[in-house]
Amino acid sequence: MSKGKIIVAGGGIAGVSVAMGLANIGYAVTVLEQAPEFGEIGAGIQIGPNAFHAMDYLGVGDTGRSKAVYIDKLILMDGTDGKEVSHVDIGEDFRARFKNPYAVIHRADLHAVFLDACKAHDNVTLVNNVVVTGYENTPNGAKVLTQNGQTYEGDAVIGADGVRSALRRQLTGGDELKLSGHVAYRAVLQHDDMPEHLRWNAATLWALPKRHMVHYPLQGWKTFNLVATFVTDIDNVGENEPGKRDEILAAFEHLAPEARALLEVPKDWRRWVLADRDPIDNWVDGNVVLLGDAAHPTHQYFAQGACMAMEDAVMLAHQLEKHEGDFSGAFADFQTARIPRAYRVVLSSREIGKHIYHPAGAHRLVRNAVLAAKSQEEYRESLAWLYGGTGLDGIAD
Ligand SMILES: Cc1cc2nc3c(=O)[nH]c(=O)nc-3n(C[C@H](O)[C@H](O)[C@H](O)COP(=O)(O)OP(=O)(O)OC[C@H]3O[C@@H](n4cnc5c(N)ncnc54)[C@H](O)[C@@H]3O)c2cc1C
Repeated sequence: MSKGKIIVAGGGIAGVSVAMGLANIGYAVTVLEQAPEFGEIGAGIQIGPNAFHAMDYLGVGDTGRSKAVYIDKLILMDGTDGKEVSHVDIGEDFRARFKNPYAVIHRADLHAVFLDACKAHDNVTLVNNVVVTGYENTPNGAKVLTQNGQTYEGDAVIGADGVRSALRRQLTGGDELKLSGHVAYRAVLQHDDMPEHLRWNAATLWALPKRHMVHYPLQGWKTFNLVATFVTDIDNVGENEPGKRDEILAAFEHLAPEARALLEVPKDWRRWVLADRDPIDNWVDGNVVLLGDAAHPTHQYFAQGACMAMEDAVMLAHQLEKHEGDFSGAFADFQTARIPRAYRVVLSSREIGKHIYHPAGAHRLVRNAVLAAKSQEEYRESLAWLYGGTGLDGIAD
């Protein structure tokens, strides 16, 4: 006997992780995904210790850790002069402080950790090719409406349908998507294509005014992830569309030559326009709740969007268990716990973008001086609110 039935709209990292959390505590969960297959794009992702705490709670921590690459450092390079500004050591002391590692992982591998667990769980049903268009609260729960006219009804509905969420549009009346003018180019390189002088066991960020490039190893060092982001006035860039080699090379013409050599390598680029949304103070309408990017889409500068989605999954499961199936009590406590933390990441990501990733002129020199003066202990403690407490104190840390 299940405790009740929950419909999840969207099968990204938020959707499959919350499905696991709810299935583990006895709910029958149906996940509706618009794509013909469940999966993730071919690119890397960084995950902090807080994400591993969340995975542990969700029962997949060991599998997650087995797929990750354990880098030693997060390095900030000044892309103008090619010199290291500073680094955060994420070795032994960092792990001891936060009781889990900081790591990088291929997105498909991270998603598969949850997807495989969902497939193996009797309480989870995965349905593809379903485009959710809206929801309705019903006398006994809530239902989702879909493009093909079918409805899926349960005791509650969860909107995990990403930054352009249809359920959020209805719930908020349509709040504005904030296109930042930041365009990210992504590519994954085979190990042998990575210039030898850049094969570092680190997540390395090369910062230039209004642009930056990040690279790190993936998949047991078989591949390297490469992301290059720049601020532009192009307003017609879409999502996951083919990139233009000339455009990316021109955008980084002032990058130190030893780093710029890397941008010459990829034959196939994909590009995305980046967006977030301003914080809102309500994610709930009756028995419907938002989570993941549908609730708090963020720029990638803290590398925490997916980590926050996994934390959401833990908190929602925890609150539903605590409230013994009282959805309105659970959803209210869920958002009270999550709104300040998730939006701290959203707002801080905007600030980091401006002050650490993209400053120019004297502002750049201030950044370099301030960060170079920080000790490793200072770095760890300044990140403790994020990686330490996990926002799940006493639940999953
Ligand atoms: C360049 C870049 C780098 C990033 N790096 C990091 C990082 O290093 N670390 C980190 O933690 N985060 C990172 N992020 C953020 C992270 O990718 C997102 O926060 C995370 O993937 C959000 O997951 P989600 O499941 O909420 O949304 P999504 O991944 O967008 O998933 C939503 C799912 O819902 C489906 N869907 C959408 N609409 C509908 C509909 N109407 N009906 C049915 N299904 C629907 C979609 O097909 C998709 O499968 C990065 C983001 C970007 C852009």
